Amino acid sequence: MKDKEKAVVIFSGGQDSTTCLFWAKKRYPEVIALSFDYGQRHRKELDCARAITKEYGFEHHILDLRLLNELAPNSLTRPEIAVDTDAPETGTPNSFVDGRNMVFLTYGAIFAKQRGITDLVTGVSQSDFSGYPDCRDVFIKSLNATLNLAMDYEFDIHTPLMWLDKEETWALADELGVLEVIRDKTLTCYNGIPGAGCGNCPACKLRKRGYERYKERISYGNQ
Ligand code: ZN
Repeated sequence: MKDKEKAVVIFSGGQDSTTCLFWAKKRYPEVIALSFDYGQRHRKELDCARAITKEYGFEHHILDLRLLNELAPNSLTRPEIAVDTDAPETGTPNSFVDGRNMVFLTYGAIFAKQRGITDLVTGVSQSDFSGYPDCRDVFIKSLNATLNLAMDYEFDIHTPLMWLDKEETWALADELGVLEVIRDKTLTCYNGIPGAGCGNCPACKLRKRGYERYKERISYGNQ
């Protein structure tokens, strides 16, 4: 029996996936958050994920995928590799983890199918994709078709942020009534500082610019 009352959210504890978690909460009576330990440099990311799910009463599972770090060393898992501050001329930035979204969604799909769940939610966005090929819509659609064929099952991968930039993602968080939760309790910073972060890494800059633009927009709207 397929259960359309439940969804599995791929959940890192960052801005995007936390927004997706609350997006799913509005639509499904039951939401399960699924996180992955892939040896990320900043273990605080998993602490944030644990704290958010605990506080807001989500079922939460963390799967061990540390093998990914051994196979695909990158600046998010290896302290000796400095994070690229600008996108390289060609190829992917060194914060890109080869195969990460494919592996996460594949494990998420296996996990969901065991529970009779078809709906998966991921916070990838093509608008702010930062050169990550596995954040693009064409990849998600392709993987959805592949997973259906692989498991003879009708998965439904939802990407509520696909066409939103960071400003619009803040607007969505506000609409969902969780702007402060996202602002104060999530971790996006490559230097492992929750909330507003270090302010200087590419992830912080993108997040901050979006937040400021959103705040500006609503303050003009209120005049
Ligand atoms: Zn930062």
